[in-house]
Amino acid sequence: MTGARARILHPYSAQGPLCRASESHEAAIDLDTHQIPDTFPRAEVTSLVEKKLDVLVIGAGPTGLACGIEAQRAGFNALVVDKGCLVNSLFNYPANMTFFTTPELLEIGDLPFSTAHQKPTREEALEYYRKVAEHYRLPVAQYQRVETVTGADGRFQITTADNLGRICDYNARKLVVATGYYDLANQLGVAGEDLPKVFHYYREPHPYFDCDVVVVGGKNSAAISSLDLWRHGARVTLVHRGPKMHHHVKYWILPDIENRIKNGEIKAYFNSGVESIEPESVVLDTAEGPVRLKNDFVFALIGYHPDYDFLRAMGIELSSEQCRPVCDPETLESNVGGIYVAGVIVAGSRTNEIFIENGRFHGKLIAEDLKRKLGAGAGR
Ligand SMILES: Cc1cc2nc3c(=O)[nH]c(=O)nc-3n(C[C@H](O)[C@H](O)[C@H](O)COP(=O)(O)OP(=O)(O)OC[C@H]3O[C@@H](n4cnc5c(N)ncnc54)[C@H](O)[C@@H]3O)c2cc1C
Repeated sequence: MTGARARILHPYSAQGPLCRASESHEAAIDLDTHQIPDTFPRAEVTSLVEKKLDVLVIGAGPTGLACGIEAQRAGFNALVVDKGCLVNSLFNYPANMTFFTTPELLEIGDLPFSTAHQKPTREEALEYYRKVAEHYRLPVAQYQRVETVTGADGRFQITTADNLGRICDYNARKLVVATGYYDLANQLGVAGEDLPKVFHYYREPHPYFDCDVVVVGGKNSAAISSLDLWRHGARVTLVHRGPKMHHHVKYWILPDIENRIKNGEIKAYFNSGVESIEPESVVLDTAEGPVRLKNDFVFALIGYHPDYDFLRAMGIELSSEQCRPVCDPETLESNVGGIYVAGVIVAGSRTNEIFIENGRFHGKLIAEDLKRKLGAGAGR
């Protein structure tokens, strides 16, 4: 696995395929040396620009990478595009997190993921997926958000914008959408939710030492964050609308959070919600009536959801109940010919049904269908 470089397209070298040269090169030129700073060998960039894409994959999460790899292994030229970095969602997970899953169940591209521990850390997973992308020399255009998709099966046009607002246009015969769910947090929908002390993502405990923190939610994220905050000196109040911690909380986490609550080390309000958030307090709606708590920070960890509007804008129909994209379960081709859906978005709002463990197999399903529809790509 050494030596190879992933073809990571860096926006500041702006060498995306079919990129509008005038817009991109201007920003990339070093004014002192008049050189265009590339972050990787120019020869590789050039060859990519000249190719027409068979497949463009939106999203460089574990699933998107698996889709790109399997398409490439089937002989198709594929490009993976992400609005953030490689495995951007995992990068944004709590800094010190450990996966629930043992490493072999996170593997893609048939490459082994080994760790000295029973379960890998976020850092180990980031390293693993970097190595996988390198090993397969997978072209990944980072920091390019897909803004529009037009055209039809066999001739899609995809437009991206990078962090500096520069536009890139791509043409692809087929499209795979693997955009995940972690970018859009479910909202409490209460007054004060837009205050700067309210977060929908938890990173690390240190800033909350000796502070009054409310954690809203009853699943794994809320349980793990509450414990981590409490262990690092925060005064934690957990608020959950259910009568007890949710049954999805992992069996090794549940006794820990329940015992902290039983001992009064973490205060919990069940059958309760947040009524409003104010700069120095929160008001809870509890079974015993309204309760006002002194408060410094709020973590609303009540889940995330796919970008349904993005899917609809491409013409993908969503089921009325759970917003599942309409697709053939055997091939994952959506109701829009030539557009495949992959990863957690396939489950719509039921984001706990598909995760890395099972979403990683979507790449092979899609590659099989690509072979049927485009003909075997091998040997290109
Ligand atoms: C704290 C936490 C712990 C977890 N632990 C586990 C575990 O132990 N085991 C497990 O199997 N699962 C776990 N999961 C769930 C798992 O991480 C997700 O199910 C998985 O990441 C989904 O993979 P994906 O490739 O479908 O989506 P993602 O990993 O979310 O990737 C989607 C990518 O699409 C990109 N994107 C979105 N919109 C655009 C756009 N318009 N243009 C370009 N790019 C775009 C995003 O930047 C992102 O990189 C955990 C989740 C969380 C939150």
